[in-house]
Amino acid sequence: MLNKNKKNKRLNNISTKPTKKSNNDSSSNQQEESQELQWVDLGANKTSWIWRHFGIKTDGRAYCRYKVLKNGIEEECNYNCVYNTQTSTQQYHLNSVHKIFETKVR
Ligand SMILES: [Zn+2]
Repeated sequence: MLNKNKKNKRLNNISTKPTKKSNNDSSSNQQEESQELQWVDLGANKTSWIWRHFGIKTDGRAYCRYKVLKNGIEEECNYNCVYNTQTSTQQYHLNSVHKIFETKVR
């Protein structure tokens, strides 16, 4: 059963596209970068304390790995921000959201 009548009637003029590339419903495709992101090895020079809670993925962004409870289930916070050499954004996130402060004795 095909149910593709009357839904996409306004721009049907691209007829060279194959219509069945996958099963995915493309109704919510905007914000999804569906490439699998991998954790990047931080290397030895990431000595800041925030890297205990943050990791870098292959999209070049820093992701918060702090575990938070969502509906009773522990999940990674998954907050992410642009990674650059300064860690103030990550520090601010840890401070304000998770109430984590630098533990290193100075
Ligand atoms: Zn977080």
